[in-house]
Amino acid sequence: MIAEVIVDVATSETDRIFDYLCDETVAEGSRVLAPFGGRVTAGFVVALKETSEYPAERLKKVTSVDPFPALNKECLALAKKIAARYACPLAAALRLFLPSEMRKGKVKELVKRYAALCVPQEEIVLPEKAKNQRAAAEFLLKNGKSECAALNAAFPGSVAALEKKGYITISEEQVLRDPYKTLDTAESRHVLTDDQSRAAESIRSDPRTVQLLHGVTGSGKTEIYLTLIAECLQQGKTAIFLVPEISLTPQMLAQLRSRFGKNAAIMHSGLSAGEKFDEWRRLRSGEAKIAVGARSAVFAPLSSLGLIVIDEEHDSSYSSETSPRYNTFDIAYLRAKYNGCKLILGSATPSVETYKRAKEGEFNLVQLTRRVNQKPLPEIIIADMRKEARRGNNTSFSLALQSEIEECLNKGNQAILFLNRRGYSQTVICRDCGYVAKCESCDVSLTYHKEEDCLKCHYCGARYKMLRGCPECGGTHLTYAGTGTQRIEAEIKKRFPAARVLRMDNDTTSGKEGHFKILKAFGEHRADILVGTQMIAKGHDFPAVTLVGILDADMSLHFSDYRSGERTFQLVTQVAGRSGRAQEKGKVVLQTYDPENEVLRYAISYDYEGFYQNEISLRAASLFPPFSKIVRVLVSGEDDKKTVETLRVTYEELSALHESEPDAFLFFNRMRSPVGRIQNKFRYQVLMRLADTSVLPKIYRICAQAKNRDVLVSVEENPASLA
Ligand code: ADP
Ligand code: ZN
Repeated sequence: MIAEVIVDVATSETDRIFDYLCDETVAEGSRVLAPFGGRVTAGFVVALKETSEYPAERLKKVTSVDPFPALNKECLALAKKIAARYACPLAAALRLFLPSEMRKGKVKELVKRYAALCVPQEEIVLPEKAKNQRAAAEFLLKNGKSECAALNAAFPGSVAALEKKGYITISEEQVLRDPYKTLDTAESRHVLTDDQSRAAESIRSDPRTVQLLHGVTGSGKTEIYLTLIAECLQQGKTAIFLVPEISLTPQMLAQLRSRFGKNAAIMHSGLSAGEKFDEWRRLRSGEAKIAVGARSAVFAPLSSLGLIVIDEEHDSSYSSETSPRYNTFDIAYLRAKYNGCKLILGSATPSVETYKRAKEGEFNLVQLTRRVNQKPLPEIIIADMRKEARRGNNTSFSLALQSEIEECLNKGNQAILFLNRRGYSQTVICRDCGYVAKCESCDVSLTYHKEEDCLKCHYCGARYKMLRGCPECGGTHLTYAGTGTQRIEAEIKKRFPAARVLRMDNDTTSGKEGHFKILKAFGEHRADILVGTQMIAKGHDFPAVTLVGILDADMSLHFSDYRSGERTFQLVTQVAGRSGRAQEKGKVVLQTYDPENEVLRYAISYDYEGFYQNEISLRAASLFPPFSKIVRVLVSGEDDKKTVETLRVTYEELSALHESEPDAFLFFNRMRSPVGRIQNKFRYQVLMRLADTSVLPKIYRICAQAKNRDVLVSVEENPASLA
C-alpha cells in the first residue's frame, strides 16, 4: 500500500504531503514514523492508495507508532476544514487532536513488571541466610502475582535473585494512570424538578442542532446536562462536556465520577503528560465514552457522538489564544452536524451574539427562570464608594459591606469577597518624580507582591527585587496604588481578627491539587471568608455562603472594549450567584464609583432581558458585533525593525483588499498595540471592523503569507482581549 503522509515538522509553514510505502498495520489517521531529509520524523497518514506516480523503488517506508489509528475519519475531515477556515497548515490542525505531549513521542505507556512463582512450593530450596529471597517467596506463595517494584522495596534484591534461580517468571503489564484516584465521589443524583423536566423535554424534542439553555444561577442546569448525557450513553453513543476550567470545579468532577465512573475521561491542563495520554487513549479505544474538559476537549477522539455540551458558553476561555485561533463553538457545531447530534449551550448570562441567534429562531431557546430550591436570587445592595470617601472611609470596604460581614460571621455563615486583581498593589509609584516601576520585557507596570516582597509582571511572569528607593531620583517616598487580593486579605484579617481567611488566585493555586485544597477547605467550613479573583466566580456551590462582596464592580466597565458592559453584567451575575444557594437567603454588596450605570442597574435586578434589549440596540446603532465582526491582525516580533517591515507589507496587502472591497469594511487602520511590548516582542496591529465576512478568507491568506521566521502575524476574530 501507499500512504500519503503529512510530515509533522514543527517549523514547516506549508503542508508537505509525501508518498510512502506501508504495510497493513498502517491505516488512515495513523501516526507514523517517516524517514525524511536524513532523519526520522513523525507524520500522519491522511490517505491510503494503491499506486503512486513515483516508482516504488524510490519510495521509503513508514512504520506505525500506535497499534491503532490516532485519528478517526471524522477528525481527519474536521482537521481539513479547520486548516481551510483558519489558513493554517494541515499538520497544525491535526495536532489539535492529540495531547501536545504526545506529539513529541515523549509519553510512554506506563508498564509495570510483575513476578509470579513458576515452580511448586516444594521445589523452592533457599539457604537459611537468604532471608529476603525466602520472605519474598513466602509472600508470593501467599499473595500470588505481585508487582516487582513493591517486592524489591520490601525485600531488597529478591526479584533478580529468584528470577536467576528460575523460581519466578516476570511479566509486563500496561497500566493506565488515573488522575483522580483520590477524588471523593459523593453521590448527588436528583430527580428532575418539573421545570428541569420541561427543559430537558424541549431539548430532546426540538429538531434544531443548537439548543440554548438559559437558566438563572442555581436553576439546576448541570443536572439536565447529566441526565441527557446518561441517555446518550444508554443509546450506545458518546458525549463531550465542555466547561471553562474544570480544575476549578472539583464538585463537578466528583459528580461526574460518581455518576459515570470510568466512563468519564477528564482532560485538563493540570494533568501530567502521562495522565493526559492515558485519558486520551481511553477515549480513543472506546473504554471511556464521555470527554470532560476545557476547550481542547472539543477535539476528543470519540466516535458516534450523541451530544455536545458547552457550559458557561459566554466564557472567553472558549476562544483559543494560540494558532490556529479557533472558536470552540464553531468546532463543536461542525462535530454536531457531522454526527447528527445536538449541541447544548448553557449559561445564566448568554453572550449577546448567542442570545440574538436564539431569539431569531436559529437556536432553540430553553429558559429556567427559578432556582431549584425556589429561593429568590440574592438581594444586591449597591454601595456608593464616592460617598464612603467623603465620609472619610478610606478602607477597601464600604460601611455596608463591613456590617454585612459582621452579621454573616456572627451567624456562623461564610462570605466570599471578589476582586479581579491579584497581588498586593497594582503599581509602585515614586511620589517625588512620578516614576512607575515597569517590566523590562513588557510595556506594563509591575505589581507588588507583599508575601514574597517582590515585584511581578503579570504578562510574562518575571520577578524583580522590591525597590528600596526610586531608581530615577533616589527618592524614598514610594506609594502603592491600586488594590489586589493580597492587600484585601491583609486588610480583612486586621479588621476581623477572629475570622479565618483563605485566598484563591493564581499565586495560591499552583499544581494540580492547588485549587482543590483551597476549595475543599472552604467547602468544609474550615474558613469563614474566601478572598479571590474570577476563579471563585465560576460554578462553585457552597451552601453556607450567604454573603458576596464585589469590591470593585467598575473594573471591567471601563475597558475600551465593546464588550465591557456585557462582561460586567456576566461577572456580577456569576459572582452574585455564589450567594444563598441553600436554605438561608443570600446577600450581595456591590461596590462602585458609578452607581447610576445602567449595566449595573440591570445586573442588580437580574434583568437579563432588559440588559440584552439595551445592549443590542446600542450595538445595532454603532454597528458593533454581532452586527459586524472585529478582526485584529497582530504583528509581533523581537526585532522592532523587522516587525515594522512585516507590518508594512501586511498593511499594504490588506489596504489593497480594503480598496477593492470598500463596502466590506466599516473601520480599517493600523497602530501600535495598546500594550506595545510583551515578553520582549514588539506588537503592532491592523484593526478592522467588517460589515461583510466574505473577505475573511482573503485576510487569513494574506496573513499566512506575510508571517515569517522572525515575525508572527495572527488573525483574531472578535478577540477577547485587545491588549
Ligand atoms: P446551575 O448550574 O444552573 O447554576 P446547579 O446545576 O449547580 O445550577 O444546581 C444548583 C443546586 O441545585 C446544586 O446544589 C444541585 O445539586 C441542586 N439540584 C439540581 N437539581 C436538583 C433537583 N432536581 N432536586 C434537588 N436539587 C437539585
Ligand atoms: Zn513582563
